[in-house]
Amino acid sequence: MSIVVAIDGPAGSGKGTVTKLVGEKLGLVNIDTGATYRCVTLAAINKGYKLEEENKIVNLLNEIDIEFKKKENEEKVLLNGKDVTKEIRSKEVNEMVSQVSHIPKVRENMANFQRKIAEGKNVIMEGRDIGTNVFPNADVKIYLDATPEERAKRRMKQNEEKGIESNYEEILENIKFRDHNDKTSSVAPLKQAEDAIYIDSSNLSIEEVTEKIIEIINYHFGDASKNGKN
Ligand code: C5P
Repeated sequence: MSIVVAIDGPAGSGKGTVTKLVGEKLGLVNIDTGATYRCVTLAAINKGYKLEEENKIVNLLNEIDIEFKKKENEEKVLLNGKDVTKEIRSKEVNEMVSQVSHIPKVRENMANFQRKIAEGKNVIMEGRDIGTNVFPNADVKIYLDATPEERAKRRMKQNEEKGIESNYEEILENIKFRDHNDKTSSVAPLKQAEDAIYIDSSNLSIEEVTEKIIEIINYHFGDASKNGKN
């Protein structure tokens, strides 16, 4: 039987980094579901589609192939065979991804894709609606939160490390805009699942959050690392 750990929360809550670390420590396959929506958005941008052209974006789903591949110890995202790991974090994608992810057919298609890539594996999956929609029966559900200001600071630092130019005010605005969009979406809005454990990471280090989550997982499974297939 496979294990599913769901980590949901808003943009910049630290989900990405923490999920990666917990996955590595416990031998769980790490799946970044935001990257799947980012790929659809990038494909739409590359085609020159506007947000209003929902049908075109939906039709595009038949033409795109998303893969997650580990290369030289780094997790790469491939869109139709091309490495788009960096491109999917661009400002253009940031500005459009939330709306694209709220197109019902896009959500449905991506949620099915996410379930498919998790099949038969022990996974730790991060996103917005994993515990509520993609895997409502996940073994462990965490809702990771932090203040918008703290999250903007983290995104800035992350971008700097990746060599992506950015501006604090712009990032903060984008985070607030995406929060609003994600929380008020009519399809699978961002909200804490009833049975999820809430963690506020505003005043915690990455290591502290990682440890907390590992403790929670271990409490549920005895010792999850013994069950990891990786
Ligand atoms: O996590 P990340 O910031 O990369 O996600 C990008 C966008 O994709 C989010 O702002 C959200 O609109 C959308 N998303 C989603 N459901 C998920 C993961 C991401 O709607 N499970």
